[in-house]
Amino acid sequence: MNTTEQKIQTLREELRQHNHNYYVLDNPTISDYEFDIKLKALQALEDAHPEFYDVNSPTLRVGGEVTKNFNTIVHSHRMYSLDNSYSLEDLQDWETRIKKLVDGDIQYTCELKYDGASISLTYENGSLLRAVTRGDGVQGDEVTANIKTINSVPLQLKGEYPAKFDIRGEIVLPFDGFNKMNEERIANGEEPYRNPRNTASGSLKLQDSAEVAKRPLECLLYNIKADKLPFETQFEGLALARQMGFKVPEAAKLVGSIEDVFEFINYWDEARHDLPYETDGVVVKVNNLFQQDELGFTSKAPRWAMAYKFKAEQVSTVLNEITYQVGRTGAITPVANLEPVELAGTIVKRASLHNADQIEKLDIRVNDTVFVEKGGEIIPKIIAVDLSKRPSSSRSTLYITECPECNTALERLEGEAKHFCPNYNGCNPQVVGRIQHYISRKAMDIEGLGGETVALLVNEGLITNYADLYTLTKEQVMPLERMAEKSAENLVQGIAASKQIPFERVLFAIGIRFVGETVAKKLAKHYKTIDDLSKAGIEDLERVDEIGIKIAESVVAFFASEENRTIIQRLKDSGVQLEISAEKLASQTNKLEGKSFVVSGVFTSVSRTELKKLIEDNGGKNVSSISSKTDFVVAGEKMGPSKKEKAEKLNISLISEEEFLQMIT
Ligand code: AMP
Ligand code: ZN
Repeated sequence: MNTTEQKIQTLREELRQHNHNYYVLDNPTISDYEFDIKLKALQALEDAHPEFYDVNSPTLRVGGEVTKNFNTIVHSHRMYSLDNSYSLEDLQDWETRIKKLVDGDIQYTCELKYDGASISLTYENGSLLRAVTRGDGVQGDEVTANIKTINSVPLQLKGEYPAKFDIRGEIVLPFDGFNKMNEERIANGEEPYRNPRNTASGSLKLQDSAEVAKRPLECLLYNIKADKLPFETQFEGLALARQMGFKVPEAAKLVGSIEDVFEFINYWDEARHDLPYETDGVVVKVNNLFQQDELGFTSKAPRWAMAYKFKAEQVSTVLNEITYQVGRTGAITPVANLEPVELAGTIVKRASLHNADQIEKLDIRVNDTVFVEKGGEIIPKIIAVDLSKRPSSSRSTLYITECPECNTALERLEGEAKHFCPNYNGCNPQVVGRIQHYISRKAMDIEGLGGETVALLVNEGLITNYADLYTLTKEQVMPLERMAEKSAENLVQGIAASKQIPFERVLFAIGIRFVGETVAKKLAKHYKTIDDLSKAGIEDLERVDEIGIKIAESVVAFFASEENRTIIQRLKDSGVQLEISAEKLASQTNKLEGKSFVVSGVFTSVSRTELKKLIEDNGGKNVSSISSKTDFVVAGEKMGPSKKEKAEKLNISLISEEEFLQMIT
């Protein structure tokens, strides 16, 4: 190695270490001035010797790369959400549930729940490969250039590390830095930012990384994900992350019981006010990774973790008016318009009132002084009325009887909480909302077309339903406000590309009431074509696993409408996928129909996830705990003894991985 290269390497090493001392350990060993001198020396050498360029050099922290469009990246491990709890009893209930599913004692890792923006970092051979936002959990936006500017994110790892892994964490903006940013803004005559959390998450999507570099963001890490992990517990994972150079708050604690978890919670409910950044709760995780694996995930969240939310802040303010919103399904939501008030760092002007019963139950009236609370949700809610302040002229609220958008008389179905407007085809927010849902990310994910443009297209009379999208031409949309030739082209192209979206998502996109993502998957798999689904009667539908009367009736009602049938036919004529692809069909059988399986232990030739998918693809059903209704337990290595005992007691067949694979070949 020649000496210049050596010099460069040495400087990079040194700067990395100082960076780590300063930003991760909060313990600098040289002055800022000395640091700057070294950084400038490195910069000069790098400028003179571009042949030694390194994407992860400490000189590149200052940013400068500009991203116009962020790439979409599918997470190699899905980023789940967390279930919430609010009391000791909630946590005890959780423990009772999970104790039925795993063997042995359970230990818990307690961590603080940092309130910022979640991020997934991928490292390969010790260097940062990319950073991706959570997005919808399945896929997010690549924001590597921006994340690199955050000093507590190591670009190069120390010590031993897995060859390739993801690490999850939260980008936060500490109060100090946030306040400084605001002082500057005010001095410049700009609006101050409302709260650290939104400012942190907004920072991730700034186009100019040099702007991000100016913001004092921090990255706190909490979870390593890889196909094979070099540790067996969450707590060890945190320790390893620290050794590799990540910032992992020391507050994390390993405890042996839910009572100890609660002690941790009580302590931090107070102590968190002294932390330099915002936290909104505690996350409790089953410590043993093998037990985590046994517990698995629901469709939204891990069964092995639980968030505990600190009590929300409350304020009181005056309710000025109640207005009513019409959703895409025609459901009416009453909204409280409040005298603006500050709550948990944001100005609150509106709160959801949910439905007529809610208003009646709390006897909420215009001009009342009400208590407003903000939990983790974006929309705050009204929890009570301050009756001592009720004006004597007060009169109880009369719920509307007609649609505020189209004046049609509202209906309320038996057992339904919400009123709805039955004017399916003539009520503007329903027409627009349905198409907006159709194009949305989880549905047809149409690039180049946004919700506002949909509203514009409807209001201009260019479309009245989603099938109309496929006959739109560039010439038709170009005259619209804020449309240029390029954007019109993108719009038409994005619509054409949606013809490749698989049937199950189309089924979700067409917006049959109560048919969400999961139900759409179930129906697509069972009926395979929209024709067969449209012919199904209520009883037939109810025989499909997990489809109840409410969904069945809604599906039948949807296809009973002549209008809907015409629209579906037009989608079909346009080439939209209205049946399961041949490929998918080939991998599916009914060999396991009607059989339910519990998968337990560790497997050799297929992963547990693959095994579960094989069960579903072949018509079987996965359940998480053994009961008399279970048909088979697929037993891998390390299956717990109590599960085995239970299966034997209930006379349920225990089969090996090989025996299972035999069943489907
Ligand atoms: P929620 O968005 O309320 O479902 O909560 C889940 C989110 O909490 C995750 O996506 C993380 O971004 C965030 N979070 C903050 N701190 C932690 C932590 N220590 N462990 C896990 N998740 C955390
Ligand atoms: Zn209406």
